[in-house]
Amino acid sequence: MKGAPVSKHFDDVYFSADNGLAETHHVFIEGNALPTAWQGVERFVIGETGLGTGLNFLAAWKLFEETADQNAQLHFVSFEKFPLGADDIRQALMPFADELGDYIDRFLEAYPILIPGFHRVSVSDRVFLTLIFDDINEAIPQLDAAVDCWFLDGFTPAKNPEMWTDTVFENMARLSASGASFATFTAAGDVKRGLQAAGFEVQKADGYGRKRDMLIGAYKGEREPQKISKPNVAIIGGGLAGTSCAYALKRYGLSPVIYDRHQGLAQEASGNPAGLFNPRFSAFRTGESDFYASAFAQVLQNFDQFDDIDLNMVGALHVINSDEKTKRFHTMLENWIWPDDEMQIVDAEAASEIAGITIDKSALYLKRSGSVNPAKLCHAYAEGVEVVHKDIDSLNDIDADIIVLASGSAVKDFVPWLPTHAVRGQVTSIKESDLSENLKCNLHYGGYISAARDGEHMVGSTFQKWLSHTDVLDEDHTDNLDRLRENVSAFADADFEIRSGRAGLRTSSKDRFPIAGKVPNMENVYVSTAHASHGIVSSLASAQMIADQITGAPFSQSIKSQKSLSAQRFIDRAIRKGEVLDGYDGNLG
Ligand code: SAM
Repeated sequence: MKGAPVSKHFDDVYFSADNGLAETHHVFIEGNALPTAWQGVERFVIGETGLGTGLNFLAAWKLFEETADQNAQLHFVSFEKFPLGADDIRQALMPFADELGDYIDRFLEAYPILIPGFHRVSVSDRVFLTLIFDDINEAIPQLDAAVDCWFLDGFTPAKNPEMWTDTVFENMARLSASGASFATFTAAGDVKRGLQAAGFEVQKADGYGRKRDMLIGAYKGEREPQKISKPNVAIIGGGLAGTSCAYALKRYGLSPVIYDRHQGLAQEASGNPAGLFNPRFSAFRTGESDFYASAFAQVLQNFDQFDDIDLNMVGALHVINSDEKTKRFHTMLENWIWPDDEMQIVDAEAASEIAGITIDKSALYLKRSGSVNPAKLCHAYAEGVEVVHKDIDSLNDIDADIIVLASGSAVKDFVPWLPTHAVRGQVTSIKESDLSENLKCNLHYGGYISAARDGEHMVGSTFQKWLSHTDVLDEDHTDNLDRLRENVSAFADADFEIRSGRAGLRTSSKDRFPIAGKVPNMENVYVSTAHASHGIVSSLASAQMIADQITGAPFSQSIKSQKSLSAQRFIDRAIRKGEVLDGYDGNLG
């Protein structure tokens, strides 16, 4: 007899006590006619209600590796309101270690941090998971995908009616590809009627073990076939935005080409020696904040896979040095509901303990934050990608099916109405001293100082909208170091030895949020820009989303986040407010 973990919350088992894996095969695999259904298809998308331990995913993944076409891709999208920790999953799956051992290890390596929202991870070069850690009723209306088959695996409807609502069934219909199948362990009348009302044809089939019946069926509606698309893509710009797009497209089996006016990658804003990464903090959960949270989880997962990016996971303290921050961070903790071990507010004493130097205020602590070398990251993203040294004047000069504009403020050369602007930022590298060598994590206080690496700290950054040159200025060094002295009392009287400095122009947008996705009114043109000071985090998730949009894969961001990123928002806003959008020659109503 195999083990069966029980949910205390729902008073129900995650899978059959007799043999969970055999149940998965009977109900979900055979109930959906797998592997026959994925024979000859280039991409197969499974949607699941209730990830639990991931057992269903693991069984489907293994079968896919054994039976699907060599180049076919599997996307598995699953909702989970109460994600289990990796240790609990490992424990629960112990009985299946013989059959699934290696798959379990690889799944848990890719398993994301347990923060709400959309997570995109890959467990192999052709198997992708979109895990959505939220209540399904909130989350499923936010999904954009064409699903080929459904595993309906919430706890039993009698104990968990929230998993079997009309919202779920109606959205399943919205998301189903033509002929999409479903299978579920339950034969409850309400489930049958709900699915029928939403447009599914429903049949009873023999249940597993002691269960007499279960339900299987298919969606009756038609939908445009979502063919996998592998176009030639040209990316203009070899900084973080462009190289991360190349990376995401490469993972989907495409061969993008990067064009840059400089010889080499990361010559502009992405060329700083170190870049600190954090989500962007905001009090409420919005499309924007969800994007940054999801993007933060994505970088954590991906950075681990690169060898040579100077990843320094020392954690970050964000000193709470204003009333506004006190309010924002406390409200944020309530709304974002991240587990304590991902983000918490610590008092001055605990902050000092973490920092290794005296911090006289409370602080927000992110254990899993750190820094990377952005230029090395660009090279890691672009590994194996063709890079052409060319200044592009006109998009007609490029021979490609699709163009991604990722050239910072220069995107305006091609889309003049995008409301972007450059913001100069200078960083100051200082020599590690007897005092500063005690600093064990990165500190943010309006400016920031990194923990020392190779005997140097990086102190940043100026923020100058009014300057557009990249000369290194002495007064900017003074500004950076004064800000540090003013905000971190341990350094109040410190003398610093300046080693070097670098200034770059970051691109920002009118509403200070990145612009990523399809460019309205232009055929086959996408954009990724305005990543401003959070570019290490936002560029990769933007790239992933663009790769999803280009290839027709399930979207790795919620519909809300996609809209927040889309260039269309500026047109919509201009129409709503009756404003002019400079440079826009389309109709504003
Ligand atoms: N498929 C899983 C496996 O392979 O281990 C078993 C799923 S278990 C029977 C049902 C899952 O649904 C639980 O993990 C539970 O936390 C989740 N769940 C319950 N209610 C939910 C809701 N309203 N939204 C999202 N997930 C929910």
